[in-house]
Amino acid sequence: MGAISTSLRSQQISTSITLAISARAAAMRADGQDVISLGAGEPDFPTPEPIADAGVGAIRDGKTRYTAASGTPQLRKAAAKWFERFDLHYAPDEVMATAGAKPALTMALMALVNEGDRVLLPTPYWPSYPEMVKMVGGVPVDVTPSDGLIPTREDLENAAREHDAKGVMINFPNNPSGAVPTGDQIEAMVDGADATGMWIMSDEIYARLVYDDNVHVSPASFEKGRDRTIVVNGGTKSHSMTGWRIGFLAGPKDVIAAAARLQSQAIGNPCSISQEAALEVCNEADDSEFERRKAAFDERRQFLHEAINAIPGLKLDRPQGAFYALVDAREACAARGIDDVALTEQLLVEALVAAVPGTAFAFPGFLRLSYAASMDDLEKAVDRIRGFLSK
Ligand code: PMP
Ligand code: GLU
Repeated sequence: MGAISTSLRSQQISTSITLAISARAAAMRADGQDVISLGAGEPDFPTPEPIADAGVGAIRDGKTRYTAASGTPQLRKAAAKWFERFDLHYAPDEVMATAGAKPALTMALMALVNEGDRVLLPTPYWPSYPEMVKMVGGVPVDVTPSDGLIPTREDLENAAREHDAKGVMINFPNNPSGAVPTGDQIEAMVDGADATGMWIMSDEIYARLVYDDNVHVSPASFEKGRDRTIVVNGGTKSHSMTGWRIGFLAGPKDVIAAAARLQSQAIGNPCSISQEAALEVCNEADDSEFERRKAAFDERRQFLHEAINAIPGLKLDRPQGAFYALVDAREACAARGIDDVALTEQLLVEALVAAVPGTAFAFPGFLRLSYAASMDDLEKAVDRIRGFLSK
């Protein structure tokens, strides 16, 4: 035992499993092992050139000083306009810039959650959500949708009443399942939250990545949702900006003002250079580069859907959005007498393919594969998984 001890709260927080798995895959690669990482969801494309140029220009032009903590006035204005893409209409003071979607979620939770407040997390959910809720003193409550991947109005209402929950965190297009609800399904969730007085934290970071006939609909686009929803979005995934650490939070003015006060003390302003680059994302007039990249994700999605279903013991429903495939590995696990955590470990060590176990998303028996990887890597990974499972 050292001379000082860490806080009880920090002891309750586990490290990000998605980041830990990608760090482990990177370490194995550095060690000379030919690991294919379908672990962390990070686009394999570089940041588009005009955005990178805007960042370089910002450094050259001396835009390297503190800005207003909630972002430059230009960026807040441009972001408010950018939200119109998603049928969301915000004034600049209803939008703030943050250092990525993670701080957006954390600042918003800090602005909303009192000690002991229960927050509903429909499963499957991104592993950072329960940790973030605990970090701000709240209590995460898992909610299993009664029918598949999308919670119904009754699911939310029943859980809200049973646990006296104050809010719900939803994420569509979903990480890890790729589920994209219809507008009616989203509206039903809004009605459930409205009937029980809950706030909705809507993580829409994958909003632009929807395939086939799917359309992304935000709960904040409904009249009853507008005043009870806090929206998280940004260019992290759509514009390959994972390392830039820039994102947006939008919602009722008072909540944004509270999150901005917290951010001013905890983070200060998000990186001034990244803000200039984000301005370019918001003002982007030509979608062709984005569409080209989206088409590449789509091609990989279709490849993985067919290839995984051709492997005995694995099943995959066609993912509808984001860049994840949530593979049903229950048969493969049962055949080997192991769970998804052990299967993921064996795949990494013996087949040199990094994936994330469904258990991390409160969805045991499944494996998450990220298809934000090259076609070449996906083909090799599928071969390795098939070979491994046939042994
Ligand atoms: N929300 C979800 C659902 C995610 O998958 C991620 C992963 N990056 C984030 C938020 C965090 O995004 P950022 O890198 O912008 O913090
Ligand atoms: N969100 C990505 C994932 O789920 C990246 C890792 C992270 O930010 O935790 O893999």
